[in-house]
Amino acid sequence: MNWILGLCGSALIAFLAYQKRSLTLSGALAAVLVGTVLYGAGSLPWFGTLILFFLSSTLLTKWKTNAKSELEANYEKTGRRDAGQVFANGGLGVLLCLLAWLWPHPLWWWAFLGVMATVNADTWATEVGGLSKRPPRFLLTLRQVAPGTSGGVSGLGLLASLLGGLFIGGSAWGLSLGTDLAEHRYALLWIGGAAGLFGSLFDSLLGATLQAMFKCPVCGKETERREHCKTPTLHLRGLPFLSNDLVNLAASAFGGAVAVWCYILFYNL
Ligand SMILES: [Zn+2]
Repeated sequence: MNWILGLCGSALIAFLAYQKRSLTLSGALAAVLVGTVLYGAGSLPWFGTLILFFLSSTLLTKWKTNAKSELEANYEKTGRRDAGQVFANGGLGVLLCLLAWLWPHPLWWWAFLGVMATVNADTWATEVGGLSKRPPRFLLTLRQVAPGTSGGVSGLGLLASLLGGLFIGGSAWGLSLGTDLAEHRYALLWIGGAAGLFGSLFDSLLGATLQAMFKCPVCGKETERREHCKTPTLHLRGLPFLSNDLVNLAASAFGGAVAVWCYILFYNL
């Protein structure tokens, strides 16, 4: 029954998101799969956490696009998420949900909370931090770098990370009202905030050290892409295989580990 409810609920939300141009067709199909598993194998807190992450980051992207187009009507991504982005944000969460379904244990939930807190914190930090009036500073040297540089952090971005994590913890609390999980309301809040903040910082740390960076031989710009100005880029630093997507995945796994560690340490599982 839960699987059917999950399928109907996700199909409705994915359809609306597709119509509102927040998801591509492949993104909408991936979202139906992710949502169905989270509700069918999980429950409302698992499913709803992902939906609220998706809603809040979609609204932030739209708000930022509006704020930016007034300042600089420059190039801008459309903000439509495809299947790759949906799985990058929800794939690890789905895996944890399936593991919890197969081998029930409370720690799976806390790992999921930390993963979703990090994914949300990262998105909020990127969208809000990008509007910072002060340029970000490189995490290791604290030198000023151009906005959008991997490994760059700003005070506004860090605040957005913390709030992004707290938002996921608060959402989980609201969604679990009436169940045993809601008794952990303070743990949900502060562990969500901590996982979001430290997961984001780990993302920046990897971005500053091991992430692959390339240089465009045509325009000379540093980029994360393998192609720029329609020309293959040259390897500059970092591990060549460590793309931005892999860094995000590693950071959300780290956020999940932070949450599990906090829970064991402070609540003596
Ligand atoms: Zn170029």
